[in-house]
Amino acid sequence: MQDLLTIYLDRLHQGESETFQGPLDPSFLECKETELCFDAPVEIEGKAYIANDHLVISAHAKTTAKMPCIICNEMIFVPIEVTHFYHTKALEDCSSSTYHFAPALRDQILLELPRYVECEGGCKERDSVKRFIKNSSSEKEDTHFPFSGLEQLENLGD
Ligand SMILES: [Zn+2]
Repeated sequence: MQDLLTIYLDRLHQGESETFQGPLDPSFLECKETELCFDAPVEIEGKAYIANDHLVISAHAKTTAKMPCIICNEMIFVPIEVTHFYHTKALEDCSSSTYHFAPALRDQILLELPRYVECEGGCKERDSVKRFIKNSSSEKEDTHFPFSGLEQLENLGD
């Protein structure tokens, strides 16, 4: 099924376009890590054509990534969608009669990833983290106290 990511240039004629559609094995994304994992197939549909001396590939792709919640570290499903994948390649730079656009699509999919994710509807562990943040911010207030005291003195001077 990875064949969808290969464009056969010798079958493409000027002015004609070749359409492709289907699920792709997510292995081309090369992400099987603890912080980022793709298990679900990548649904893709698009077309390839030759315009002047360039190969043009335009497509729409979506899949689901798995990333850990920033708060509790639980793996959650994150829908990823590339609505306008548009890739061009000069024909003179294509060294063979096939062009494999997996690396370009991979880059685009990875760009769509959010920087961080949280459990849907708010992480249930958020409260315990909030308590921790609250404590550290009240310490911060203590360190600022001498300055607010100075301000009061200045006001008294006026
Ligand atoms: Zn969570």
